[in-house]
Amino acid sequence: MLNLILFGPPGAGKGTQSERLIDKYQLVHLSTGDILRGEIKAQTPLGIEAKKYIDKGELVPDKVVIGMIGEKLDHNKMAKGFIFDGFPRTTTQAKVLDLLLAERQTSISALVALEVEHEELIKRILHRAKSSGRTDDADRNIIENRIKVYHNETSPVIAHYSRQNKFIAVHGLGTIDEIFERLTAAIDRL
Ligand code: ADP
Repeated sequence: MLNLILFGPPGAGKGTQSERLIDKYQLVHLSTGDILRGEIKAQTPLGIEAKKYIDKGELVPDKVVIGMIGEKLDHNKMAKGFIFDGFPRTTTQAKVLDLLLAERQTSISALVALEVEHEELIKRILHRAKSSGRTDDADRNIIENRIKVYHNETSPVIAHYSRQNKFIAVHGLGTIDEIFERLTAAIDRL
């Protein structure tokens, strides 16, 4: 299986590139952000709980997010692999993901991190806000908080996979096509 973590701060382009990568490599896209927004839209108890955190730019508690993942893996038993987008976002989530995959006789192939500088992230998210309708995209303070949370809580996930020699950095500035080329070049070397 090809199991990729597409990593990077909010606004790095994970969602955009995931869509292309799933097409090219026939992978299942697993975006915890998308799943959570679906739960919010359906007004499930999980969605109502998650919304409190998302609207502040905070992380949803690990146990809420982790509960969603095993189920998704089992629903896609025949998959050629997965793209994890927006997950794992803490080292706890990373450790649990490794265990869930090991139980299913597979593992992470690589963590591919899109690197984009701070001001560009803000610019992209504010631009996306015009069409996304996402409350967490519309306010500069909330965006700043999401980036801060990324640095404090999420970026340690890089060290976790560096120790397993699975970390690959990709320059995230340029056209969507250029960045896709860089990603596929890195993935094809695996
Ligand atoms: P972005 O990468 O632009 O921040 P996402 O859709 O990945 O967008 O995430 C949006 C929000 O959903 C996050 O700010 C967070 O509150 C919540 N979220 C998504 N994935 C996770 C996760 N794995 N752990 C905790 N919270 C999450």
